[in-house]
Amino acid sequence: MKKIEIISATPELLKSPFSGSIMKRAVDKKIVQINFHDLKNYSLSKKKQIDDYQFGGGSGMVLMIEPMFNCINFLKKQDKYSEVIYMTPDAPILNQKMSNKLSISGNLIIICGHYKGIDQRIRDNFVTMEISIGDYVLSGGELPAAVLCDSIVRLIPGVLNDETSALTDSFQDNILAPPVYTRPSSFNELDVPDVLLSGDLKKIENWREKKSFEKTKKIRPDLLNK
Ligand code: SAH
Repeated sequence: MKKIEIISATPELLKSPFSGSIMKRAVDKKIVQINFHDLKNYSLSKKKQIDDYQFGGGSGMVLMIEPMFNCINFLKKQDKYSEVIYMTPDAPILNQKMSNKLSISGNLIIICGHYKGIDQRIRDNFVTMEISIGDYVLSGGELPAAVLCDSIVRLIPGVLNDETSALTDSFQDNILAPPVYTRPSSFNELDVPDVLLSGDLKKIENWREKKSFEKTKKIRPDLLNK
């Protein structure tokens, strides 16, 4: 069973994305184990201090090296990890290829930053991979960690059933997914394309490929050049 350990200064922010739908199902099925670690529990100071002012001055607190080190160390003593990932905006942006790779890797540690970020010495010495979820800044790494986990977990064999297969989703072949429709076939004179009701599987496949291509060319031409 794959283990994902998430280290956070505000673990309460992590709860809801993991408490329903596919991530919960993966945990319930014991395909993946996801644990939250409250950084405060790894602070040795009486006041459970985990952040401090930055050297050199400037606004914003920085998560300290010691509690983070203690937590990573504690985890590494119990198990082996393929990657120690830090969620941070100044890093390569997450894509499906990275998610595919991480879904078949071993156990993962994911570090969520807060405030100004984490002490650079953690990044330089203990982090093996850094991932951003896009060119914008959020308050903490919890939502990015949940985004990363969701994208990974749904790809682990046995998590999705055939009806929700990940292989036909956008990006798997550097192409966006075609439009989808469901019952009723006509609603207030808004009709589903005839071809989808034709029962001709070859024709349907061709139509979907064509739509995918047109959509990708229009919205994300960069994907077609990959
Ligand atoms: N001072 C940093 C931003 C810190 S934001 C900078 O300018 O680069 C606080 C925390 O939120 C970060 O440590 C990181 O864990 C998380 N975070 C914010 N935006 C993110 C993004 N786009 N992708 C991944 N993590 C992000």
